[in-house]
Amino acid sequence: MTRAADAHVRALEAPPTGVWSAPGRVNLIGEHTDYHGGLVLPIALPQRTTAACAARDDDRLRVHSVQAGETVEVDLADVGPGRPSGWAAYVAGVLWALREDGFAVRGLDVTVDSEVPLGAGLSSSAALECAVGAAASDLFGLGLLEDDASRARLARACIRAENDIAGAMTGGMDQSASLLCREGHALLLDCRSGETSHVPFDLAGHHAPGGAGTGGHVLVVTDTRAAHALNDGQYEARRRVSEAAAAALGLVSLRDVDPHHLDDALSRLDDEQARRTRHVVTEIARVRAAVEALEAGDLRAVGRLFDASHASLRDDYEVSCDELDVSVEAARSAGALGARMTGGGFGGSSIALVPARSAEDVVAAVAEAFAERGWTPPRSFTVTAGRAAARDS
Ligand code: ADP
Ligand code: MG
Repeated sequence: MTRAADAHVRALEAPPTGVWSAPGRVNLIGEHTDYHGGLVLPIALPQRTTAACAARDDDRLRVHSVQAGETVEVDLADVGPGRPSGWAAYVAGVLWALREDGFAVRGLDVTVDSEVPLGAGLSSSAALECAVGAAASDLFGLGLLEDDASRARLARACIRAENDIAGAMTGGMDQSASLLCREGHALLLDCRSGETSHVPFDLAGHHAPGGAGTGGHVLVVTDTRAAHALNDGQYEARRRVSEAAAAALGLVSLRDVDPHHLDDALSRLDDEQARRTRHVVTEIARVRAAVEALEAGDLRAVGRLFDASHASLRDDYEVSCDELDVSVEAARSAGALGARMTGGGFGGSSIALVPARSAEDVVAAVAEAFAERGWTPPRSFTVTAGRAAARDS
């Protein structure tokens, strides 16, 4: 029995009828572009959130979290913006959003257990929503896991749960990644059209003609364990300034800035707007370049794009922090082809593209750099591109 199923029996005193799971994600490149209708390129993590569930024949939600060590109960009729408060909003919000979308959803007994670290920028929130969404789809016969179009619809419900009920104004990347990614592939998502494609991402078997070595490569993720709070207004502030910049340029969003006429656009903005805009426009271009480099097997080029992305997020979008800067610098000096912060920023995680033979050195160098500064030890692990949300048993 999975730990979630085991905890379910103890906390809710009834057996689950199934177990579902959904992955966290790490974005390879394309940061702070999703809410500008831009491009993102996440992979699903091997780390997942598991939901043991049973349908109820009333409209009550009982949800237990192993991580929170707590059970919350709420009537679905009472769910709304800010209700319930705290972590249970992510779960109740999914059932609420599915109902809003016209689906016949009843109550649920749920126990969640996460391997995705919470608040590390690796999207434990979407993993939680999507695991519950997958369970609801199967238990209530909604058919939302059947194909990419239905999975995209389920992703939209999970996004509404996070935005409207939990009150976190994030874009749509996390839920799309958790529901649409394929093993061994990154997901190229156009956040304006909703179009997706799957880009091969298999570093282990990668013998790069671009001269990046033949010993294979790994992606090292480092959770800096630095405070990370997208709810503290910084995210909204970036969003506001960039939207004002788009309006000043007479555009619907910064996606519409022609990268070939970027300097002209920047000259019409104030300094803050110009720097935010430069990040968004160049970052979208870097996603396109990274897809080409991955398809060509040129990992050195991917590494250079990681470095440029980090500099842009640090200097122009100003969402990095000391822990993220130190972790990418240490990774590079120990042999990474490139490294960058990933996720919303202000803490959270970094990623580094590393020749497999240097992976241990990179992890040690980052740990040492943190120890020298007296910071909480970071947690590093290598990841491969995992599979999307699914029923496990
Ligand atoms: P991230 O998604 O990067 O991990 P967020 O701040 O978006 O960070 O989401 C983290 C929040 O999601 C937690 O503070 C908690 O409210 C909720 N959460 C995620 N996973 C769980 C879980 N397994 N149990 C309880 N709450 C969870
Ligand atoms: Mg999140």
